[in-house]
Amino acid sequence: SAMREQRIRKTKTVCTFCGVGCSFDVWTKGRDILKVEPSMDAPVNGISTCVKGKFGWDFVNSTERLTKPLIRQGDSFREATWDEALDLIAGKFREIRNESGSDALGFISSSKVTNEENYLMQKLARAVIGTNNIDNCSRYCQSPATDGLLRTVGLAGDSGTIADIARAGLVIIVGANPAEAHPVLATRVKRAHKLHGQKLMVVDLRRHEMADRADLFVRPNPGTDHVWLSAITRYIIDQGWHDDVFIRDRVDGFEAYVESLRPYTLEYAEQVTGISATTLVRMAEMIREADGVAILWAMGVTQQRGGSETSAAISDLLLVTGNYGRPGAGAFPLRGHNNVQGACDFGTLPNWLPGYQLVSDAGARQRLGAVWGVELPERPGMDNQAMLDAIVRGELRGLYLMGEEMAWVDANANHVHAALSQLEFFVVQDIFLSKTAQFADVVLPASPSLEKEGTFTNTERRVQRLYQVLPPLGDAKPDWKIIMEIANRLGADWKYAHPSDIMAEAASIAPLFAGIQYDRLEGYRSQIWPVAADGTSTPLLYKDRFAHANGRAKLARANWIAPEQPDTMYDLHLNNGRLLEHFHEGNMTNQSAGLTHKVPDTFVEISPELAAERSIEDGALVRLISPHGQVEVRVMVTDRVHGKEIYLPMNTVSEQSAVNLLTGPVVDLRTHTPAYKETYVRLEVIHRR
Ligand code: SF4
Repeated sequence: SAMREQRIRKTKTVCTFCGVGCSFDVWTKGRDILKVEPSMDAPVNGISTCVKGKFGWDFVNSTERLTKPLIRQGDSFREATWDEALDLIAGKFREIRNESGSDALGFISSSKVTNEENYLMQKLARAVIGTNNIDNCSRYCQSPATDGLLRTVGLAGDSGTIADIARAGLVIIVGANPAEAHPVLATRVKRAHKLHGQKLMVVDLRRHEMADRADLFVRPNPGTDHVWLSAITRYIIDQGWHDDVFIRDRVDGFEAYVESLRPYTLEYAEQVTGISATTLVRMAEMIREADGVAILWAMGVTQQRGGSETSAAISDLLLVTGNYGRPGAGAFPLRGHNNVQGACDFGTLPNWLPGYQLVSDAGARQRLGAVWGVELPERPGMDNQAMLDAIVRGELRGLYLMGEEMAWVDANANHVHAALSQLEFFVVQDIFLSKTAQFADVVLPASPSLEKEGTFTNTERRVQRLYQVLPPLGDAKPDWKIIMEIANRLGADWKYAHPSDIMAEAASIAPLFAGIQYDRLEGYRSQIWPVAADGTSTPLLYKDRFAHANGRAKLARANWIAPEQPDTMYDLHLNNGRLLEHFHEGNMTNQSAGLTHKVPDTFVEISPELAAERSIEDGALVRLISPHGQVEVRVMVTDRVHGKEIYLPMNTVSEQSAVNLLTGPVVDLRTHTPAYKETYVRLEVIHRR
């Protein structure tokens, strides 16, 4: 009854914004969100949250929410019933598959939806349609870190927990801005640094808040992290400061690795990176002196042509110094979205089945195929980038995209728009009529996290349950129900009554998740994978063995891939990243009044030196031009950036200032992650003030 609906309720959920994975109670009355109340029981955050988790929820009740399926009619959309929309989708998918084969269809899953929904999306692609053409947005961010870790230590995730980061003797942050992008995690580091004598080294182009706090802040030339990492590792070995017992007992490939380090002398590194030899030695000494080293990295490292190689170099440094498999040490790629870890873990990748079982492994295909009652496709699938190219070639005819703002998040937006316009049949499932949905033929209204049950996996591999806080708005539905309806219209006979049924199936086919069960995740309880059948979590990876077949780690040979360089035409290096108040391109946070009030528009940061040289003042309107497009944006003069470095946040309030109009086609060579951080532009002043 209406009376009951108006009762005040308190429901536990997990934050939908970043990969830290804060959990808290949400107090509601009807659809009104009264407050967010953190709990001492929350395993990650306790009583802390950041501004997004606390005040970022207005978007759930935004009048812009999609509440009905939409079908394209000329240049606009008309409302449709679910049956009409789903029948159209199933019919079109069937037609494309019959005419052009399964691989003419592609699937893009989401780091915002639950593990269970990701699992179903890849099952739809593989078991119902018969293609491995499935990917998620980790292609835009952490795939290079995954590659570097898989090659060296064998699993794609943080090697320890956030508590290990707080426990480390030395934290090194490379190309990451956790105070804004992972606020509650950064708070842990700040506290350990202030109260417990933890040392902090920050290596970044931009002097952000953590850089201000650091014991040592180093600004290398763009794209040269691999070189200083390799040089200090070589120096450590030359000085005999490496952990030879650890290497002997646990690591393969030491000699070949040392051989590959030969070019990376201090002199060479000084010349390439711009970091003085004295500072490089100081960096090596800090590592030597520390009891436990944790290295945190993110997009500054990964979004480069050599992002995978640099990620491997980080892992190599940790291996050589014995900083794996013990508390307070290890590798921590900081996951961006709340569930980008889970999206990968549950198999929405073109070459991985759920639980990091290779598509190319015939045994794995056979095992999973037996459970799913089909023969699984053997041909590796296309990633996001390859799918776009295949659209342009006319080979990929249909695309089903869930919860991704691909048109503005992928690099080189003009190119992406051209590809999406060419697509024959495009289904977009989202909570808003996103900018990407403008290209769609059918738009399906989905539910945000507060309107459904399921689990998310945070950056430290921790699986946590969310409980339904609100009923779906209008005719919107949780993504797992929508995917199931499409699958069943295509001949599947899925009967999942609740996300727990989906997790039970995933746990039965992926040893990594063997003991994950909803009853073990009740309330604020959580599990950290790998989870043994008896429910035991593994907070610390590699205690006794690494995840390769022989139990040993493998050093990856040093291989620096030089970045793109500026030229006379495009003379400024354009860096880009997040702001505390906004999440990524802003499709949710721009709908939250409390957040847009704080940061209403995008701006470009330029250095006092550059401002003086070009006579530009704060607030000037400028045009930034790259070979791929241009934007117009206001200037903020700040010493957070220096010299010819400029910084454009990626929350796209207005399309004129979208950073990806400027980024180009260069990608990480091993994973195809766009090299967003290798962008050069020139600047023209429109109005000085
Ligand atoms: Fe949410 Fe991340 Fe902020 Fe925690 S730190 S409240 S997970 S956005």
